[in-house]
This record gives sequence, C-alpha cells and structure tokens, in this order.
Amino acid sequence: MPNDIQILTNAEIADRLSTLAQLLSMEKANPYKIRAYRRAANTIRGLGESVDELVRSGEDITAYPGIGEAISGAIREIVLTGTLASLEKLRSNASPELLSISAYPRLDPKRVLRIFKKLEISSAEALHQALESGVIEQKFGSRMAQHVRQGLVQTNAILLYHAHDLVLSIEAYLLKRAGAKRAEAVGDYRRRVEVIEELSFVVETDDFAKLTSQMERYGGRTSIIESTRESAGFVLLSGPLLIINLSVGKDWGLSLIRHTGSKAHLKKLAAVSGNLTSLETKGSFDTEQSFYDSFGLGFIEPELREGLDEVHQARRGTLPVLMTRKDIQGDLHMHTEASDGSNSIEQMAATAQGEGYEYIGISDHSQSLKIAGGVSEEKLWSQIRKIDQLNEHLEGIRILKSAEVDILADGTLDYSDELLRELDYTVCSIHSRFAFGKEQQTERILRAMDNRCFTILGHATGRLLLKRPGYEIDMERIAVHAKQTGCFFEINSSPDRLDLSAENARVAAALGILTAISTDAHSIHEFGTIRYGIEQARRAGLERTSVLNCQPLETLTKLFKR
Ligand SMILES: [Zn+2]
Ligand SMILES: [Zn+2]
Repeated sequence: MPNDIQILTNAEIADRLSTLAQLLSMEKANPYKIRAYRRAANTIRGLGESVDELVRSGEDITAYPGIGEAISGAIREIVLTGTLASLEKLRSNASPELLSISAYPRLDPKRVLRIFKKLEISSAEALHQALESGVIEQKFGSRMAQHVRQGLVQTNAILLYHAHDLVLSIEAYLLKRAGAKRAEAVGDYRRRVEVIEELSFVVETDDFAKLTSQMERYGGRTSIIESTRESAGFVLLSGPLLIINLSVGKDWGLSLIRHTGSKAHLKKLAAVSGNLTSLETKGSFDTEQSFYDSFGLGFIEPELREGLDEVHQARRGTLPVLMTRKDIQGDLHMHTEASDGSNSIEQMAATAQGEGYEYIGISDHSQSLKIAGGVSEEKLWSQIRKIDQLNEHLEGIRILKSAEVDILADGTLDYSDELLRELDYTVCSIHSRFAFGKEQQTERILRAMDNRCFTILGHATGRLLLKRPGYEIDMERIAVHAKQTGCFFEINSSPDRLDLSAENARVAAALGILTAISTDAHSIHEFGTIRYGIEQARRAGLERTSVLNCQPLETLTKLFKR
C-alpha cells in the first residue's frame, strides 16, 4: 500500500522559502535573490490552489507572479522531499541561536542576534520572555519591540490591500471548486476597514456541507474551527479568520446587508426594519435595494455602514454622495529621482496624463531628510525653473511646483520662506522626532501651520499600519487651526499608511476643510494606489466637494492662496 502522503500546505511551503531568505540574509547573499524568495513566499501564501497538488500533477507553476525557473525548482524539491538541500546546508552551518530564530521567518536575524548578545540570551523562548517583561522595549526602543512582537506572535490581521488578492482567490475557489453559485465578500472587507482580522463571505449553494469540506482543502489545507448548517469558520494560513455564511438565494440582498454592516449599524437598522434575522427566508429581498426601498431608506453605501449617523441620514434622504475615482482631477504628492523616487518629472507627468489627470504636483523631500535624498535649496531652485520650462511645452497637463517640506522639531519649515514662496503649494510632513508627546507634537504642527507657505499637512500621524501606531496628535485642535489658517489635510493612499484615517478625515470634513487624496508615489507604477485612499475617503463619507484634488486647477489655485 502506498504511503498516505501528507501534503504540505501553501503556508508550510512559503515558510521554508521565507526561512531560506532569512538565513541567506545572514550570508551576505545577493539581495535580489533574497527578495525573490520572499516575493515567491508571499505569492504562495496567497494562493487558493494547493501548490503541493499542482507540483505533484506536473503543472507549470512559473505562471504565477514571482515564480521563475529557479524558484519553481526549489518548490518542487520542497514538495517532493519535504525540504530543500540548500536550506538544510544553511541550517547545519547555523549557530544554535540562529537556528532558534529560523523558526520565525519574519524576524530579522541581525537585529535579534544583537538583542541576544546584549541580553546574554540565546533562544526564541528567552526572547519572548524579554519581550513580555518589557526589557526589549526599555533597552532597544519601541520599534524593536514591535518588530520582535510581530515576528514571534502569530497575528491574524492583514492589511486591506493584501486582502484584495486573497478575496479574489477565495471567491474563485468558492465558485470553481466548492460548488458555490454565488459568492461575495462582505463584513469588514466590504466596508474597506484598513486592517482585516476576519474575512467573511456570503454564498449561495445547494450543498453547504460539501462546500465546507471543499474549503478545508483551500490552500492545501485549511483548518475548520466551527460549522453549523448555515455558517462555517476557518483559520486561513495566510492570517485572518474566514467565515462563510449561507444565504437562501431569494434573500440574497438581505444576507449581504446582515453580514456587511458593523454591529452598531445593524442595531440601528433593526430599529427601523425590525429584527433582520426573522425577515430572512420570506423571499422578499433579492437585492439590497429592495430592502432599502421597502423601509423607505436611501441606499447606504457599504463603506458607510458603521453605525454612525448613516441610518438616520438614509431615512431623511441626506446621505452623502460619495466621491469616486472618476472625480479625481490630479495628484498632489509624488517624488521623482531628484529625491527618493525612481522616475523623472517628465515620466511622472506622462503617466498622470494617461490616468486622465489635469495636474500633478511634484513634491520631493526637503533638504534635512538626508536618508531620502532631500533636495538642497539650490537644486529646488533649478527644479522650479525646469518645471516652468516643461509647462510651456506640455499640453493637457499642468505640473505644479511643490515640495514635501519637513516640519522641523521646533515647527519651522525646512526651506527659506523666499524659496517656499516660489512654489505653487507645499506638503508639510513630520519625518523625525516621533517620540514627542502629544502636546509638543501638536504645538509643532500648529507653529508650522502659522507659516503662510504651509498648504497641506502630509500623513498627519505618521502611522504605519501593523508596524507603528503613529505619533500622538490632538486632531481636533489641529483641524480647528487648519480651518483658521487656510491649511488642508491629506489622505496618504500608501496602503501601509492610510493617514488620515477615516475617523480623522471626518473631523476635517466636519469643519469644512478640504482633504487631498494623494498617492505619495515614488514611481510611475504607484499611481494606482490612489484606490486605497479613495476607499478611506468614502469611509469618511467624503463627497467630491470635500476633496482638494477633485477640484479643477482653477479652483485649486485660488484655494492655495492664503
Ligand atoms: Zn512623507
Ligand atoms: Zn512623500
């Protein structure tokens, strides 16, 4: 009898590649090679098809992004032998300390070995203890503690932009492999919450039990944690929980509503419609629209279903008309090769034109930000002259002269006023002294806003989602001051930032302050990230009129005058 082969899950295969990358990083190996392994590991973690099965059935896996011949060979070896000769060789040469770290592929071994040495410890367990007792934070700072925590602790949360691909993969699997007739992602994902801990779907199927058992084979193997006749929960190896809810076809719209809104939203909705669960199976709500119509409510966009005032607005017919991608007229924050970007002004302008934009603003880093190639005063003067020349010849797009100006520790700006006055507007940001307390950080921003050359506050809190919480600021005070001085905010669309948060963007909008939705693009390939900023703007209830770069150039120029 043949051995009952225990197939490797996609996560197990990905972990081996990640560990290989981790150990290679200690060997001074080619950084491109290390990055290639990491990228392949990410691809595999996000796939619905079992890579083990694909390999065993002789399929060509180089069709997947980031998997070339060499890596495909490595994956084949992992599947067929359970390991990788090159990985085993690195392991056999590794010190016991390094071996202990290698069980946690997200840890940076160089940083951890430094901790080991200083604390005179040598194992991941001791590292864990040092983390819990606060020693790491005390001696190495909060960023190091954060790194260690993320490396050691199994986290369920993923960022929204990582969920986008995962959702497509699960949806395709539900429809093609698991017998779903319809499948739609709901819950936090549909509301575009920026960090996702639980992915949930509504499905329609004739055989829910079969669908559930098929899902256990998703990604090679996915463990089921609970199942009833109408819902099933799984732990996805790529991080979050997965909840599948069965809908009776006739009440599809009602199912979407029940599983999309936050708890607070559903409570407010039930106050209008009566108990939502008891409405199901009567077959009256095939679409969401039919539900809203029958209770005299306007259609509530999913991003608004948070339980704030949207149900009330839906009753009174005062829901905001949320802005969309087609309202965007330009992009006001981007970098070129003059600082830390990878493309020229001309290339950025040509790409923006392809996006259908009327204008872009070039905002390279200012002189103090040396690590990001901050531009000297002299160089900015010549960039200004260059843009003037370009604008003389360009048709259909206008390049605005700007800079991402550092707000220095004392609240002054990083260029002379004489130079700043030559710019069409500025994006002013904090890139240093994150450790200031709330009061001091707030004062710093208020002082900066007092400068008449201050236009837009860039990424207001400096947060990096799941990495660092951002410095503390008094958003209310800053918004009031921005209103008085004529300054604006930015929703930085970088999917790791999304800063302003939707909550802070609401604070600005409530005072009638316009917010820019900016990509902070560092290359021509990042214009598409505007999508993520738009998602958060919609969560904040922003209409076209509240968004700075939904305004035509003429209006913008007036708005920028203080
Ligand atoms: Zn910045
Ligand atoms: Zn920037």
